[in-house]
Amino acid sequence: MPAPRLVLALGVGSLALSIAIGSAACGKSSSDGVAAGDGDAAAGGDGASGEAGTNTTSNVTLMSLPIGDGKYGAAPKVGYVFSCQSNFMTGIGGAFADGPWIHKDTGTFDFTAKIAVQGAVAWPAHTFTMTVSGATRTVAGNGLPDHDTGTFPIGASDPAYAYDRNPSSIKQAAKSWALPATPTVAATESCLGGGPIGILLTGAAFFDALDGEGRDAVAHEVQDACQAHPEMSGTYHYHSLTTCIADPGTAHSALLGYARDGFGIYGVRGEDGKTLTNADLDACHGHTHTIMWDGAAVSLYHYHATYEYPYTLGCFKGTPIKG
Ligand SMILES: [Zn+2]
Ligand SMILES: [Zn+2]
Repeated sequence: MPAPRLVLALGVGSLALSIAIGSAACGKSSSDGVAAGDGDAAAGGDGASGEAGTNTTSNVTLMSLPIGDGKYGAAPKVGYVFSCQSNFMTGIGGAFADGPWIHKDTGTFDFTAKIAVQGAVAWPAHTFTMTVSGATRTVAGNGLPDHDTGTFPIGASDPAYAYDRNPSSIKQAAKSWALPATPTVAATESCLGGGPIGILLTGAAFFDALDGEGRDAVAHEVQDACQAHPEMSGTYHYHSLTTCIADPGTAHSALLGYARDGFGIYGVRGEDGKTLTNADLDACHGHTHTIMWDGAAVSLYHYHATYEYPYTLGCFKGTPIKG
C-alpha cells in the first residue's frame, strides 16, 4: 500500500505542502494518522519539521489560518460565502467552546492543532456511482463514505466532547442527482444554502464553510479525522476538502467531486501544481482553463478546494439542481 495521502511539511513562515502519492483504498482507513484535522498531523509531519518542502510553497500556513467568522453576504465576493441565509441563530448546536487551536487574538486558528472526533467506524453499505448518458451526469449514492468515520454522536469520553457535543448519528439516505454532463456558466451566480452543495467521490456530501450559526465551521466544529461529521438529519458531510481522498501527483489536482451545478471540484493544486489561494480564484472559488473532463481535454470552468476559508465554493457559478 502506498504512503498515506497528505504530508504536511511545516516550514518557517510559510507552509510547504507536498502531497504524497496515495491510493483511494488507503483512504478507507482513518487510522493512518495523517489526517490534517488530527492533532497527530503536526507530529505526522515531524520527519519534515523544520525543513522547507520542495514541491510547492504557498503563503498559506495551516498553523494560522484566518478564521472566516462573519465572512458571508448576499452577493458574491472573493473570500466570502455568498449565502442564501442572512440570519443565523446562535446556540443551535455545533461547537459551544473554543478549542486551544482557536487564537482569537490574531483571528486565526491552527488547523494542525485541531483534535478529531475519535473512532474508526467502517461503512460497508457505502454506495456511489457516477454515470454519463447524453447530456446528463447522474451521481447517486447513499451518502455513506468509502472511508472510516469517527464515532457519532460524540461520546462523553471523547476529548472532542469538551468543545462540540454533536448529538447526531450518521445515517444513510439514497440520493440521486441529475447534473448537466457539461455545465455552463450561468448569467448570474447563485447563493449557497445550508445543505449539500456538492458531493465528493468518497460518496459523502460537502456543505459550505458555515456552521449552523454562520461561523467558520472548519475553525470551530470538531470533525472526525476525515474532516466530516453528521448534521441533524444524519447527513455525513465535509466543510472543506477531506484528507481521506487521494489527490496524487504534483501537477493540477485530480477531479475530486461535483458541485450541484455540475461543475467539478478539484484539489488544492492549480496549473503547474501551484497551491491555490483565494487570490487565484473567483468569488465562487473557481477558474477556467483546460482540464480533463470525462476523458477529454476541454476548457471548462471548475472549482478548487483551498486550505483557506471558504475552503470550497463561495457561490454557484452554474445553475444548481433543486431539491
Ligand atoms: Zn457541518
Ligand atoms: Zn484549475
